[in-house]
Amino acid sequence: MSQTYDIKTAAVIGAGTMGRGIVMCLANAGVTVQWVDNNPQMLEQALASVADTYAHNVRQGRIDQAEADARLARVSAAADYAAIRNVDLVIEAVYENLELKQKIFRELDGLLKPEALLASNTSALDIDAIAAATKRPEQVLGLHFFSPAHIMKLLEIVRGAQTSPAALQAALALGKRMGKVSVVSGNCHGFIGNRMLHPYVLEARKMLLEGAYPQQIDAALQGFGFAMGPFRMYDVVGIDLEWRARELAGKGQDAPQVQVDNRLCEMGRFGQKSGNGYYHYEPGSRQAEHDPQVDALVLQVSEGLGFQRREIGPEEILERCLLALVNEGAKILQEGIAESARDIDLVYLNGYGFPADKGGPMAWADQQGLADIHQRLLALQTRQGDQWKPARLIGELAAQGKGFADR
Ligand code: NAD
Repeated sequence: MSQTYDIKTAAVIGAGTMGRGIVMCLANAGVTVQWVDNNPQMLEQALASVADTYAHNVRQGRIDQAEADARLARVSAAADYAAIRNVDLVIEAVYENLELKQKIFRELDGLLKPEALLASNTSALDIDAIAAATKRPEQVLGLHFFSPAHIMKLLEIVRGAQTSPAALQAALALGKRMGKVSVVSGNCHGFIGNRMLHPYVLEARKMLLEGAYPQQIDAALQGFGFAMGPFRMYDVVGIDLEWRARELAGKGQDAPQVQVDNRLCEMGRFGQKSGNGYYHYEPGSRQAEHDPQVDALVLQVSEGLGFQRREIGPEEILERCLLALVNEGAKILQEGIAESARDIDLVYLNGYGFPADKGGPMAWADQQGLADIHQRLLALQTRQGDQWKPARLIGELAAQGKGFADR
């Protein structure tokens, strides 16, 4: 069946951090939005916060009052799912829990018109498992916005095994209307961006245990040009999100590299939102200040785990964090999760604060030369083990004297 989709109306499920930004993206693009949350108080607060944001935009002179009124008029609360049965698209942004998302998709599938599209804003969950809860898997996909959704340019569009080309086209067209940089990703845990983030952050956390301190690691990566080092980023995102997810999943909590995070969370140090995390924040300030208590905690945890601490310089920090990104990026490319190295670079430039002048992790690797990257990964593999085994694609391209961009 060749079907085209024209998205004029949408519903957003969930009025939390992401739902708020997503609603504004849609309303700003001229889409009428109905909003559902099972917590009425949350929905009320969210509507007020959207109105506040538009009023702020008017005060800043970014839009005029008539435009603010028009945008706000496109947003309304819906009492239940029955009230949204005629929308063209639903974007779900509830808690990151597969069973909950499946339940919502199953229910919506039974109510929505047959041609409606169903999208999830999940950060990492299996889109096919979500689609399997419906009888319309060809109309299900991931629309992964980044926080704050109305400001961040990146949109990862996740293609499930059965997502139809027409549904994908509709998502790309919507991305364009919302002024996003859209990148299509295959379905794997974490998609392109968060899958690569995992080994990058793992190296940063391991180096804390081996001898470095958060400020030192962040300074090295910010010196390279990242908008934020990994620990400052965790303070912004909230250290407690992964902590709670590990707790809920009942696994991962014992891994040595998360012990500093666990201790910080047990102390109520969740990051910027609680005034303390890896750094200290004065009330009302987002300025990350060095906190000697955190260094003492890092020392205590790492010694408690039996690490013989050593000096770790900025060269080693950059080498391990950047090569972890590049090697995972190469695997993502060879598996066909990303269509091109450029797409991976776009994700890192627009969603993760990778320095623009370096062109993205894959372009940076090409500048170094893949033969050089290959040798450096082999050297790390000899010193630290098989997690550094170079992706097959790197060896192949290096042998041909090619780069990722030549593929
Ligand atoms: P949040 O906790 O701020 O908001 C979730 C909202 O969902 C709450 O308002 C809650 O009341 C509502 N909700 C829960 N169950 C519901 C139900 N059955 N029906 C209707 N509403 C329900 O969460 P968030 O940070 O906005 O994250 C939402 C999703 O977006 C998650 O899947 C998350 O992984 C993903 N995501 C988050 C970020 C981020 O930086 N926060 C970035 C990208 C993607």
